[in-house]
Amino acid sequence: MNEIFQECTRCVIDAHAADVVFDSAGRCNYCTDMLEKLAVYQPTDPKKLETKLGAFIDKVRTAGRGKRYDCIIGVSGGADSSYALYLAKQHNLRPLAVHMDNGWNSELAVNNIENLVRKLSVDLYTHVVEWREYRALQQAFFDADVIDVELLYDNAMLAVNYGLATRYGVKYMLSGSNTTTEGMRMPRNFNWNKFDRKNILAIAQRYGVKVRSLPTIGVKRFAWHRLVRGTQWVPFLDYINYNKERCIDVLVKELNYRPYPYKHYESIFTRFYQGYLLPTKFGVDKHRLHLSSLICSGQMAREQAKELLARNPYSDPDDLQADIEYFLKKMGWSEPNLAAYLARQERPHDDFDSEASLYAKLLKLQKRFIPGR
Ligand SMILES: [Zn+2]
Repeated sequence: MNEIFQECTRCVIDAHAADVVFDSAGRCNYCTDMLEKLAVYQPTDPKKLETKLGAFIDKVRTAGRGKRYDCIIGVSGGADSSYALYLAKQHNLRPLAVHMDNGWNSELAVNNIENLVRKLSVDLYTHVVEWREYRALQQAFFDADVIDVELLYDNAMLAVNYGLATRYGVKYMLSGSNTTTEGMRMPRNFNWNKFDRKNILAIAQRYGVKVRSLPTIGVKRFAWHRLVRGTQWVPFLDYINYNKERCIDVLVKELNYRPYPYKHYESIFTRFYQGYLLPTKFGVDKHRLHLSSLICSGQMAREQAKELLARNPYSDPDDLQADIEYFLKKMGWSEPNLAAYLARQERPHDDFDSEASLYAKLLKLQKRFIPGR
């Protein structure tokens, strides 16, 4: 039986999201919060935003004086991080582009990154993850039935970026995350804290996997970076009026960028995880968050979002079949393996050792420590 979940009348958040509350007009607290956030980050007077950007660029440049790079920018090949790199170069910053390859990159993403750094004359540091170890870790996360399989990638990516910041004496890490297209708060039942190194190690150990080479970062190291070293992770695109479609046009025209049909489709795993595993096993549709952000920032009409949801994420069943086959082959699974995984109950991350309470304490200390996602 299909349960019907109440959906917000202003955005497309529905009752799957933890702590969602609807007012008498059926509007949810997620979009109410998002609109307040937008008012702070996106002043209606464009001059104000320009002044803010100018002052920020000066700060980054001053901090980078005498160093090889001013800032670090993680690039995935997606539009947001590509535009962040483009914007940094437009303002004569000297970024080091950093990419992490976990074996699931789409060819299109790799082409986009190579093309981007060449055209912008930016140094690129690529960290290639040891695939056999990474696959074993992903397998452990699947065996554990925890929701956030991407914790492995995201934590390693943070570890690599923070590590390079220390190596090159860089204070600023500029990210493509931004309020206008993804500012909707992530419901706490949709993912897990990305600095939870202890959780990664505990899940790995429980299923007999050793973390030998994958870079990891825990809450204490993060706190050291933020509090002692003063490393700053900045949602750079909040300094402009970021309109995704307009910015993709610029990237296409000026840098021969090739766009993707949906957000986060630069990684085949992310595409399959968000488009199939998350909704099928966990009842979580992250696309709703993204579309709701676009509705709140006036970049999409609610009707259009509803249409996209109706045919998202795999509008063509052949595409889904192709991704299932790719996934099975790469993970060494059979179809019954996948069916059994999908049928099993979710298990919470904190069934395993975790740094959640430590992180909560840190958050209480200073709310702005959370990276902008
Ligand atoms: Zn809403």
